[in-house]
Amino acid sequence: MITLSQFAKGATIPAELVPNAQITVNVLNAVFEAFPGVFLFSSGYRTPAHNAAVGGVPDSFHVKGFAGDFYPNDGNFAKYKSGVISILDRFGFELIDESKKPNAAHFHIEPQPGATIKTNILPSGSADKNSNGLAWLFFLGIAVIALRD
Ligand SMILES: [Zn+2]
Repeated sequence: MITLSQFAKGATIPAELVPNAQITVNVLNAVFEAFPGVFLFSSGYRTPAHNAAVGGVPDSFHVKGFAGDFYPNDGNFAKYKSGVISILDRFGFELIDESKKPNAAHFHIEPQPGATIKTNILPSGSADKNSNGLAWLFFLGIAVIALRD
């Protein structure tokens, strides 16, 4: 389980990217809860400067708040890969396997190309996100009423 603040690693997430970051945190927590005590979180939101410093590509999903990195504490990536992928599929996220990367072996997750991000499928304990959904329904209701006038 990680928090938004842990996801940002001390950086301030720009307000317009907070919704992205919250979705990614929810996806990471769904994975972490499915494998209790197994994964260690290593990277989430990065400022453009931080991203450049660690050699990330300029259009990295990390800069958009839409990527997270983690690795298993036993180093056995193969053991968990298919299980992680099946959880990510539920959210429209994909796994990029960086387990062969020297000195920084990890799983990287980000939205699937062209995927609709499924924010309605949430891990337990995400009540705040549900209330956001209700707020949107309320807003849409107002908009529909306004259009009918
Ligand atoms: Zn990454």
